[in-house]
Amino acid sequence: MLAIEGGRPVRDEFLPYGMQWIDEEDIALVVETLRGPLITQGPLIAKFEQAVAEFVGAKYAVAFCNGTAALHGACFAAGIGPGDEVITTPITFAASANCVLYMGGKPIFADINPETYNIDPGQIHTHITPRTKAIIPVDFTGQPVDMDEIYGLAKAHGLTIIQDAAHSLGALYKGRNVGTLADMTMFSFHPVKHITTGEGGIIVTDSEKYADKLRLFRSHGITRENMLKDEGPWYYEMQELGYNYRITDLQAALGISQLEKLPMFLEKRRSIAEAYDAGFKDMEEVDTPYQLPNTQSSWHLYMLRFNIELLTATRRQLFEALRAENIGVHVHYIPVYLHPYYQQLGYTTGLCPRAEKWYGEVLTLPIFPRMSAKDFQDVIDAVKKVIRRYRK
Ligand SMILES: *Cc1c(COP(=O)(O)O)cnc(C)c1O
Repeated sequence: MLAIEGGRPVRDEFLPYGMQWIDEEDIALVVETLRGPLITQGPLIAKFEQAVAEFVGAKYAVAFCNGTAALHGACFAAGIGPGDEVITTPITFAASANCVLYMGGKPIFADINPETYNIDPGQIHTHITPRTKAIIPVDFTGQPVDMDEIYGLAKAHGLTIIQDAAHSLGALYKGRNVGTLADMTMFSFHPVKHITTGEGGIIVTDSEKYADKLRLFRSHGITRENMLKDEGPWYYEMQELGYNYRITDLQAALGISQLEKLPMFLEKRRSIAEAYDAGFKDMEEVDTPYQLPNTQSSWHLYMLRFNIELLTATRRQLFEALRAENIGVHVHYIPVYLHPYYQQLGYTTGLCPRAEKWYGEVLTLPIFPRMSAKDFQDVIDAVKKVIRRYRK
């Protein structure tokens, strides 16, 4: 009997969909930093930036206090302003579009490819106008977008690509690292992401011009370099309207230590995804995530799509039944433009029909490196239990 109907849950303890893995080495490096003289703007920020840049193979990295601030910085560096349109996907966290609004630009939502769940390059093409300035593709779940197609469009129309790679640190596209494919690439270090700094984010780029602008933007627009005036040794100069978007040395210490474990984290995520693929392979009630050939996902999320027409339950009932089994399923994401704030800006339901249909059919299954073999077997057992009960 299902737990929601009074039966015994598949597991006694709630299993979240994602969480960090902090070990004693992480803690030791943070504590050492706390004992030192510089806890905010010390030497570890540059060290962390360099380590991330090296890991992905980019020339420059500029860290921010979170990924959203980093996206804001990237939109600033790309020169997005009032009247500019920026194309992104509706199936993402709100920040991928909000960063355009912060600069006075207009987010334009292009529908998804129903197989990969990523933005469809063909749909990007139909939304390009003379006002289009940039594209913000999102590597949803960790699977890289089809960047060759998107790059071709960007070249042909003179657009900047800001890749939202919050889900795809360590992913590969045609043998190339995410972080080397776009003009600017954002990674997030929120605790559910691949590595964490508490809050944190970064932009990697090969452009010195962008890197300079990003550094200026995260620190009030204030600089001591390339100054226009020189009034004495105390003098510094505010050249742009920036923000205080800096990360701290404490967080950078955690990031440096976490980055060393990233290959292990990626391997664990991959093996959980493989176990799910195998566990659900022969079930016609669900679709496991399709993977583009030549890409290697970093598996931030694992989306299970339900063939609702084969079931007597709604997606909401499936969600509630699995939660009752103590499986922390989730839904990523509500199409951004369906949020009341966007609706009030004039975005209407029906804008991206594929995304809206897809949103009604999916659940996010737990996936994070610390999950044990029993944990992911519990997820498989619970999904099967719920499907058996609701099978037509
Ligand atoms: C996490 C996330 C962000 C924002 O990152 P924060 O560090 O939480 O600000 C942006 N886009 C996507 C797709 C994300 O998942």
